[in-house]
Amino acid sequence: MRFAIFGDIHANLHALHAVMADAQENACDRFVCMGDIVGYNAYPRECVEFVRSLDCPAVQGNHDEQVCLSRTSGDLNPLAEEAIDWTRRQLGPEEIEWLRGLRLQRQVLDFTIVHATLDTPAGWKYVTTELDAEASLGYQRTPLCFIGHTHVPKAYIREGRVRAEEFDVLHVKKNEKYLVNVGSVGQPRDGDWRAAYCIYDTDSSEIYLRRIPYDVDGARQAVLDAGLPRKLADRLAKGK
Ligand code: ZN
Repeated sequence: MRFAIFGDIHANLHALHAVMADAQENACDRFVCMGDIVGYNAYPRECVEFVRSLDCPAVQGNHDEQVCLSRTSGDLNPLAEEAIDWTRRQLGPEEIEWLRGLRLQRQVLDFTIVHATLDTPAGWKYVTTELDAEASLGYQRTPLCFIGHTHVPKAYIREGRVRAEEFDVLHVKKNEKYLVNVGSVGQPRDGDWRAAYCIYDTDSSEIYLRRIPYDVDGARQAVLDAGLPRKLADRLAKGK
């Protein structure tokens, strides 16, 4: 089986369409959504509807959680909050209910998915160091776990000690434990503007990091047309 594992879409429909086209070209027959479907960009309703139509395993992200609250909790930065307030007005009760019903973590076949970390899934901690990864790996009951949240693709591999690795292809070996950040479809923050997601091939035990060019100008213009902050449009072109 070939899984397309994608998250942090953040209402960027242009990027989501490009990722789905790439997944199809690469013969992906399963889909897994890592959460943060909404927030920041201009197409929250369309992105929720698209992911729902895939009928695939999905977990909740912190922006999905925030949009389900009647008002913002103050946990997000002001720019994100402005986008969440706007997003809340775009979604109908059915979309909100669906987002609210998403679980924080799930097991899919032999791997686990969680948006942030396994040690405190509802705490929305970021895995940016080997130490952060170690904390999550301590709660990981499967050899492989996928995460998102930082918008920076990276693998943390535990073989005795934990090491961090940037990767294009990762060969999953037995007797090692893997915590793999799949990057962000709709708002990459590693300096590369192209959409990111992973393909996991269960037959070859390989994980491929995909970077997909998309109509970033279209996505930026949509942010401006929606009346969302200009900074949110500009960061798309920078991948930050
Ligand atoms: Zn996110």
